[in-house]
Amino acid sequence: MRQFQTPMMRQYWEIKEQYQDCLLFFRLGDFYELFLDDAIVGAKVLDITLTRRPRGKDGHIPMAGVPYHAADGYIAKLVAAGYKVAICEQVSEPDNKGIVERDVVRIVTPGTILDEKSLDRKSHNYTWSIWLDESESQACIGLAAADVSTGDFQVMELPVAEKSAEGFEIALSAELMRFGPAECVLDHDTYGNSDLLRVLSSFPGLNVYPFDEWQSHADDADSVLKDHFKVKSLEAYGIDDKNHIKRAAAALVGYLRHTQRDNLNHIRSLKSFKPHDWVGLNRSTITSLELFTTMREGERRGSLLSVIDETTTPMGGRLLRSWLTRPLTDKGAIEDRLDAVEELLANPAVTGDVRNELTPIYDIERILSRLSVGLGTAVDLVNLKHSINHALSIRSQIEQLKSPLIQNISELIVPELVELAEYLDTQIVAEPPVDLKSGNIVRKGVNAKVDELRKQVGGGKEWLLGLERSEREKTGINSLKIKYNQVFGYYLEVSKANLHLVPDRYIRKQTMVGAERFITPELKEYEQKILTAEDELNKLEYDLFVETVATVLTQTDVLQDTAKGLASIDVLAGFAHLAERQNYIKPTITDKREIKIKNGRHPVVETLLASDKFVPNDTLLNTTDHQLLVMTGPNMAGKSVFARQVALITLLAHVGSFVPADEATISIVDSIFVRSGAADVITAGLSTFMVEMVETAHILHHATDRSLIIMDEIGRGTSTYDGISIAWAIAEYLVTNRGLAAKTIFATHYHELQQLAQKYPKNIKNYQVLVDDNDGEPIFLHKVIEGGADSSFGVAVARLAGVPDGVTEKAEEVLTGLEQGETKKISPKKSTRKKATDPIVKEIKKLDLENLTPREALDHLYRLQQKIHAKG
Ligand code: ADP
Repeated sequence: MRQFQTPMMRQYWEIKEQYQDCLLFFRLGDFYELFLDDAIVGAKVLDITLTRRPRGKDGHIPMAGVPYHAADGYIAKLVAAGYKVAICEQVSEPDNKGIVERDVVRIVTPGTILDEKSLDRKSHNYTWSIWLDESESQACIGLAAADVSTGDFQVMELPVAEKSAEGFEIALSAELMRFGPAECVLDHDTYGNSDLLRVLSSFPGLNVYPFDEWQSHADDADSVLKDHFKVKSLEAYGIDDKNHIKRAAAALVGYLRHTQRDNLNHIRSLKSFKPHDWVGLNRSTITSLELFTTMREGERRGSLLSVIDETTTPMGGRLLRSWLTRPLTDKGAIEDRLDAVEELLANPAVTGDVRNELTPIYDIERILSRLSVGLGTAVDLVNLKHSINHALSIRSQIEQLKSPLIQNISELIVPELVELAEYLDTQIVAEPPVDLKSGNIVRKGVNAKVDELRKQVGGGKEWLLGLERSEREKTGINSLKIKYNQVFGYYLEVSKANLHLVPDRYIRKQTMVGAERFITPELKEYEQKILTAEDELNKLEYDLFVETVATVLTQTDVLQDTAKGLASIDVLAGFAHLAERQNYIKPTITDKREIKIKNGRHPVVETLLASDKFVPNDTLLNTTDHQLLVMTGPNMAGKSVFARQVALITLLAHVGSFVPADEATISIVDSIFVRSGAADVITAGLSTFMVEMVETAHILHHATDRSLIIMDEIGRGTSTYDGISIAWAIAEYLVTNRGLAAKTIFATHYHELQQLAQKYPKNIKNYQVLVDDNDGEPIFLHKVIEGGADSSFGVAVARLAGVPDGVTEKAEEVLTGLEQGETKKISPKKSTRKKATDPIVKEIKKLDLENLTPREALDHLYRLQQKIHAKG
C-alpha cells in the first residue's frame, strides 16, 4: 500500500483503493481532480494539462483537473474511450476543523451513462450480464439486459449448441444485434473464456468487464432479486426455476446498484422471454436486410428503420426499433396491431391530433431515470408536467377508438396523473434554471419561509441601491458604485480622480489601476444579512425541489406505464402515417403456408427512385409447387432487390405494419434467414467463404417448414464450379429434406441451377428478372416473370462501363468456351442459354423499347408473358 503524509492524499488513496478499475474524479472545490496514474491517463485522453504540483510532504504528485460545471463532457469522453469514472464528491460541509468527508456517489460506465448528450434519443443503452453454464453436456447462457437510462430490464436463456467461438456467435449474435449493448459484465471465470470474449469483443461498441462481486450476487440470486423488486416470489416473472437467468440477473442488479450507489428504484420489474417468442432474425439477416444501418456505409440513412420511422417521441423511436428486431409470431397479436393501424388510418383527424400532441412530449422514461438517480433538474419536472398534460389529451383522443390494442393503450395513460401535473405546476416556476443551487425554482405561495426570505433578499438589494444613492449624495462622488465579488463581498468603488472626496469612515480594501475599493461597517453588517438569507433561501428551495422529486417518484409505475402507452401509440400512429404517405396496404395474416404478394415493392429502394420508377413485382411462395424459387438474371437485373423485398414485406407484416404492395397474404414464419454474398465480412479471422458456409450450415440446421430463406448468390465466395455444385446441393437439400420444406428464394447468376426445376417440378419454380438484350446493351426492366433467364450480360455490363473492346471481346470468347465446358459437365443434354427462338426473347426484340416508357414496355411484356403461359 502507498503511504501518504497529507490527510487529503490519505483520504484520496483510501477511496481510490476501492475503485481500482475506475478513474477517480476527486472533487476539490470547483474542480474534479485526477491524481497519480489516473491523471496521466486523463490528461492524455482528455487533452488537458498534466501538472506535477509539489504536494508538501508527499512530494510531486501527477495531477490533472477539470472544472465541475463542465465535467459531463469530459466524463462522456472518457467513457466513450472505454474507461469507467467514479465520481467522488464532498459529502460534508467544510468546517475548518479537519478535511471534508468525501465519498463516491456514482460510477459512470458505457452502459450506465445518463448524460443526455451521450445517449442516442431513439436507442436504448443496455448493460448485459452473462452467465455461461458449461456444467452440462450442452452449454447454456443466462442473459440479463438492463437499460439504466429507461428502466427496462429483460432476461432470457440461450442454448449453446457448441462450446466454440462459432457456437457462441450463433447463440448470441441475434441478441447482440437486437440489444446493441454498450457494456457486458462477467464473472472472472467467464471473462477467462477466450472464445466467448472474442465473440463479445468483436461486437462494435461493446465494452466487456469482469465484475469482482459477480459471483457473490449470483450465489445469492433469489434474495438479491426479491429484495430489489420487493416481491416474495419470482414466480410472477416466470423465472423461479431458471437458475441461469436468475444468476445473470442478480449479478446485473448487483452491478447496477454498485454503479448507481443503490439509486435503482426505477428498474421495477423484469420481463422474461424465450427466443421463440419472436421471428428468428440472425446477425446476417439483420445486416443483409439493412434494418438499422446500410451495409456499405454503416449509416442509418438508407436503412429500413430510416424509411419506416415516423415516430415523434424518443420512446416511440426506441419501441419501433425493438418491435423491428422482435417481430411477433402470434397471429392474434399481429392482427391486433394491424387493426389498430387500420383504425388510425381510417380516422385521420384523430391520428393527426394524436401525432401533434405527441410531438412536444419529452422523454418521460429518461426523465424518470435521471430523477431516480439524483441527476434530475427542475427543468425535468417542468418538462414532465407538460408531457403529462399532452399524454392526457392523447388519452381523451384515442378513447373514442374501438380497436382492442388502442383501448389497452389508453388504459395505460392514467387520468389521475392530472393531479401530479397540477402539483408540479403549483410547486415549480414555469421556467426554472438548470442549476439547482441558486434558487428561483419554487413558486410563490408554496412555502411561507421561501417567500419571506425572498423579500429579505430582494429588499436587501433595494437597500444597497438606496445606500449607493445616499453615499453619492453624502460624498459628492457621482460615479461611486456598490459592487460584489467572491473575495470581499460587497464594496464601494471610487475612481482615482475622486479619491480626495473619500471620507474617513471608509475602510480601504484594495487598490486597482483606475480605482480603489472600500467597505464600511454598515455595509458589511447588511451584507451578512443578505448573504445569509440568500444562502438559506437557496438551500430551502433545493430541499423543496428534492421533496417534489420524491413525490414524483412515488408515481414511477404509473409514469412508466404512461410512457409505454405513449410509445405504442406513437409507433402505431407512425405506421398509419407511413401507410398513408407510402401507399402501404394491410396484409392478411394466414396460418396457411403461403406468401402471396401482388405488386410488392422494396420499401427502401422505392424511396430512392423517382416516383413511379420502381417496378412492382408479384410473389408466390408455398410449401407445395412454389417452395423454392430459382431467380436468375444478370447482375444488376434486380434479383437481390426482389428477394429482399419479399423478406422485408414478410418482416413488416410480422411487426404489425402495413406493407408496400397492392395485396399481400403472409403466413406466419418462425424465422427469416437471409444469406447474402454481398454481406461478406471478414470476421474473427474466418475467410469469406468460411463465413458463408458457417451461416449456411446454421440455416440448414435451424430452418423449418415455417421459415423463409433468402439465399442471395450462394457459393460466390469460391470458384465457379465449386460454387455451382454447393449451391445446387443446398437447393436440393432444401426441397428433398421433407421436414425442412422452408419457403426459399434462391437468387443466383448460375443459370445452371434452372435445371433443378425440371428435376423437382413439384417444389421448384424458375423465375427470371427480365432484361432486354438490346444487341448486347442490356436494358434492365426489373420485371420478375416465371421462366429461366438468358445469358448473364456480365460482359455487356463491362462494355457499358467502358472496359476496352479488346478485353470485352476476349471475355466473350473465354465465356463461350467456358459455358460449353460447363454445360457439358453439369448438363450434357441441354444448354441453358435461351435461344433467339424463345418466344419471349423474340417478342422483346420486336418491341420499340426506345420509344416506350418503362411502364408501357412492362405492361406489354407482362401481357405477353401471361399469353405465353396461358398457352402452356
Ligand atoms: P442483382 O441482384 O440482380 O445484381 P439488384 O437487385 O442489386 O441486382 O438491383 C440492381 C439495381 O437495380 C438496384 O440497385 C436498383 O437501383 C435497380 N432495381 C432493382 N429492382 C428494381 C425494381 N423492381 N424497380 C426499379 N429498379 C430496380
